[in-house]
Amino acid sequence: AKKEGRSTYRYHTEALSIAANERLVMETRLRHALTAGEFVLHYQPLIDAHSGRAVGVEALVRWQPPGEAIVPPGKFIPIAEETGLIVPLGEWVLRTACAQGRAWIDAGFAPLVMAVNLSVRQFQSENLAEVIQRVLEETKLPAACLELELTESMFMEHAERSIDTLKTLKAPGIQLAIDDFGTGYSSLTYLKRFPIDKLKIDQSFVRGLAHDPNDREIAATIIAMARGLKLSVLAEGVESEQQLAFLRQHGCDYYQGFLFHRPAPAKELEAWLREHSA
Ligand code: C2E
Ligand code: CA
Ligand code: CA
Ligand code: CA
Repeated sequence: AKKEGRSTYRYHTEALSIAANERLVMETRLRHALTAGEFVLHYQPLIDAHSGRAVGVEALVRWQPPGEAIVPPGKFIPIAEETGLIVPLGEWVLRTACAQGRAWIDAGFAPLVMAVNLSVRQFQSENLAEVIQRVLEETKLPAACLELELTESMFMEHAERSIDTLKTLKAPGIQLAIDDFGTGYSSLTYLKRFPIDKLKIDQSFVRGLAHDPNDREIAATIIAMARGLKLSVLAEGVESEQQLAFLRQHGCDYYQGFLFHRPAPAKELEAWLREHSA
């Protein structure tokens, strides 16, 4: 038994050091990727329920190493977050997305909101509001065209400070959305105290709308609560007509999902946007 315990121990430390080594390699590659310009943004339309038109897009980052397959954010955002690289990467995302938003205005597209995801580290960084202000000035995107997506877990630790941060962010007219709503700590008290504009119902609840009574109940409750609190509400991950029918019946304000459009590079989206935006 003792011998077995030993080899198990050794097995675990080896596995751990492999993981640590892979992480280090990944970190080095990601740092290089940022300076080498290997990150790209895809954009996914946000659909207004009443008009059926696109009223915005969400910017979603991808990594395109030369000659390799595109890497989805789930594979590198957690490492970027852990190593702090998310701060410069997040600033690149913000600047690139805002510049794209401006370019669409200049090209005569109907007004679109540009939604950008913020990470925990970015939210906690002292100069976030200044960085955002500077990016808006540089890119000349109107503040009202920018929406920041935050998650519930960002607010829990320092509630009072978070409220101050949110107020500062919101002051110039930027919109604030809670991403993945329903998956975090879900302390509902913050909803009335925090200056938030929109809830994005997490796709895990939307997935089961056609068949799972619990998901239907949760989604219906979030929509009703949002209405009561005068927040707008968007459903993420809408893939089917059945899901859409349920959301429509319950008065969801906005939709996002493969049913309408997958995230795509700006150039690929433009013809569709010309046809489908307000
Ligand atoms: P998220 O913010 O919840 O983004 C929505 C995710 O759902 C995207 O995955 C999108 O491609 C996917 N999606 C959209 N419609 C559908 C659908 O109908 N069905 C299904 N199954 N999925 C759908 P993606 O692009 O892989 O991004 C994953 C996550 O990575 C994001 O989740 C977000 O948390 C993070 N992320 C992406 N870009 C950034 C970024 O620029 N900064 C930060 N901090 N995080 C980002
Ligand atoms: Ca998001
Ligand atoms: Ca989400
Ligand atoms: Ca998510």
